[in-house]
Amino acid sequence: MQYPWGNSRRFHSLADYYRQRYGSRIQKVSIHAGFTCPNRDGTVGTGGCTFCNNSGFSPSYCHEDISITSQIEKGLSFLKKRYRRARVFVAYFQAYSNTYSEISLLKERYEEALSHPEISGLSIGTRPDCVDDEKLGYLSEIAREKIVSIEYGVESTHEDTLVAINRGHTFTDSANAIKKSAAKGLHTGIHMIMGLPGETRQQMLMQSKTISQLPVNSVKFHQLQIVKDTPMAKDFLKNPEKFHFFEPEEYVDFMVDFLENLRPDIAIERFAGEVPPEFNLRKSWSGLRSDQVITLIEEKLKERNSWQGKNYHE
Ligand code: SF4
Repeated sequence: MQYPWGNSRRFHSLADYYRQRYGSRIQKVSIHAGFTCPNRDGTVGTGGCTFCNNSGFSPSYCHEDISITSQIEKGLSFLKKRYRRARVFVAYFQAYSNTYSEISLLKERYEEALSHPEISGLSIGTRPDCVDDEKLGYLSEIAREKIVSIEYGVESTHEDTLVAINRGHTFTDSANAIKKSAAKGLHTGIHMIMGLPGETRQQMLMQSKTISQLPVNSVKFHQLQIVKDTPMAKDFLKNPEKFHFFEPEEYVDFMVDFLENLRPDIAIERFAGEVPPEFNLRKSWSGLRSDQVITLIEEKLKERNSWQGKNYHE
């Protein structure tokens, strides 16, 4: 059976979409461009989001003391060995909030990355409260000739959760940023964490309908993991009863329910993440890799004769 996204997979995979469009998977080369975050420098907060320890999310070649060009060189040499068939690379401005600066400095950093002959575009990770019309307009100009996507850390659609994790912005901010980016014609991705403390399964599931109402192009999910040296790690060690962690089977079942309600044209970039073992406070899922999680989700969809958007109604 052909699904609305043009192939027989039971969910709309962003990797497949890129392969169809560009003839290759798109590999992101992570960069630390030296930007910081308003939830750390005191502009909106100082402690950061309770789950955040940026070194837990960045590859070792990604360091602010190294020039962007050198980070790209090191990243390319690592990724070409790991993903031998990768042909298309984009610079992934990953660490902290990559639109949090004067536009002149943003242009300097983005353009250094784009001047590398093997870089075909930009993927910009940021907070929804760090964009404005001028920055989005500039990115949309680049997008006329290059691959450009913007990725917002939304994390949850529930305002109470955002307060509890000290996110420092609201879901309304997220919805507004998504709408503004989409209006500029930018590929708009979001990042969500499943299993944040205080959320019931039903509340997590409801988010599928909420994000389906927004002009989101792609979504990246992470199951909650506890990263060492974070406020959440301290809270977990003190109050473990506040936390419920998905076991793999439960997560797969949940994700299938989530997908059934998700708009079919929203592409999935990933279903689960792997915090490097040295940063992961609570070892879990017995080393299950994210590609194995995809296989389990596809098997479950097949078993239930289901697919992304099966229960979605406009
Ligand atoms: S997760 Fe992002 S927004 Fe939150 S503190 Fe870390 S860098 Fe800042």
